[in-house]
Amino acid sequence: MTARHAMAVDTRRCVGCSACVIACKTENALPEGGFRDWVVQDVTGAFPDLAMQLRSERCNHCSRPSCVDACPTGASFVAEGGVVVVSRNKCTGCKACIAACPYGARYVHPAGFVDKCTFCLHRVRRGEEPACTEVCPTRSLTFGDLSDPESPLARLLRARRHGVLQPERGNLPNVFFLT
Ligand code: SF4
Ligand code: SF4
Ligand code: SF4
Repeated sequence: MTARHAMAVDTRRCVGCSACVIACKTENALPEGGFRDWVVQDVTGAFPDLAMQLRSERCNHCSRPSCVDACPTGASFVAEGGVVVVSRNKCTGCKACIAACPYGARYVHPAGFVDKCTFCLHRVRRGEEPACTEVCPTRSLTFGDLSDPESPLARLLRARRHGVLQPERGNLPNVFFLT
């Protein structure tokens, strides 16, 4: 069966240390001010009944990627395992994909192309985990193949309550947040 790469983010485990952000910057040699992942601190409720959630966010590698639909040159496309990537030499930097992504997952690289999370496909092809996943000290991040029901990711999603960001947008994200 064709692989479906996806990620689970355990919001109960994340401590907001940003190791995932630093690892991504280093692994992918991101420019100053450019980020492929980031940590969100969400406070909900009213004092004194406040709740805080920490979570690491990145491109959701959507099954219906509005960024790909919006790209006029074909630079944004769906690669193996459903991973959404940008071909640098086809990207004109027009930013149509940035406007079309509901998740703020893309930024303009100083070299003129648009960049975003690749699920570290270069590592995955070598049989390694994404850099952010490998480095997380609390194992908040689980990367895997959703098409394999016995993968640790598929098992985790069966065992835990989870959701996606802005489901109402209809993008069908493949990054799942465990609560
Ligand atoms: Fe959270 Fe893990 Fe990232 Fe630290 S490395 S911010 S614990 S997801
Ligand atoms: Fe595209 Fe944004 Fe979905 Fe990533 S999160 S696939 S950039 S629409
Ligand atoms: Fe960065 Fe790779 Fe993690 Fe995506 S999967 S946020 S590119 S380290």
